[in-house]
Amino acid sequence: MENRLWSSGASDKNKAMVEQLQRYGVIKSTKVAEVMETIDRGLFVPPGGSPYFDSPMSIGYNATISAPHMHAACLELLEDHLQPGMRVLDVGSGTGYLTACFALMVGPEGRAVGVEHIPELVASSTENIKKSAAAPQLDDGSLSIHIADGREGWPELAPYDSIHVGAAAPQIPEALIEQLKPGGRMVIPVGTVFQELKVVDKKPDGSVSVRDETSVRYVPLTSKDAQLHSD
Ligand code: SAH
Repeated sequence: MENRLWSSGASDKNKAMVEQLQRYGVIKSTKVAEVMETIDRGLFVPPGGSPYFDSPMSIGYNATISAPHMHAACLELLEDHLQPGMRVLDVGSGTGYLTACFALMVGPEGRAVGVEHIPELVASSTENIKKSAAAPQLDDGSLSIHIADGREGWPELAPYDSIHVGAAAPQIPEALIEQLKPGGRMVIPVGTVFQELKVVDKKPDGSVSVRDETSVRYVPLTSKDAQLHSD
């Protein structure tokens, strides 16, 4: 297996990664598999990294790209709320990998919005996306990445069918609950030392239910200053 991965091209390695996640049962949906096959993760991991290895990797600025199994798990949890034409907000979009996957899920009739507070990451993620299969959606405006504090969400395009938060919040930001559409779902890691990935469902009547999916470890959702001076 290792030899085959080593000798094959990027798209073969990306496909092998997706197949492994399917074998492990992390990916169940054909659509999620298709999207993760179409967006080459290798375009989003800085040079010298191992993009197809199932582990988080540093991307600078005290940030990481999440492990492939976490990206897959979040796509699976949100799948019903990422149907063509729907709106999705990706808070802490980092490399832009997951935002690109979201854009493919919702298609050109939908909207995939990334919010990231490190301007350099917004610039590099835009470059990454331009090389990927999601590039046409950057051009037609159905995919956009913005420099902003994600704790405030992105009210301009609210409400969202799906909200994904890629950094751990001490508690669920009120603004994000507000910007979730009735019938919509948010996936958000919550906690400091111990974190739980929470699934927040806003019912059609506007009431909100929260459940714990699994224990996780994400970088904090915090201020830019706190993040850049955290070591
Ligand atoms: N989903 C991204 C995760 C990147 S790590 C990926 O897999 O590439 C978490 C990201 O959240 C970092 O890029 C960090 O800069 C960003 N972040 C942390 N706090 C934030 C805030 N308050 N507003 C916007 N982005 C934030």
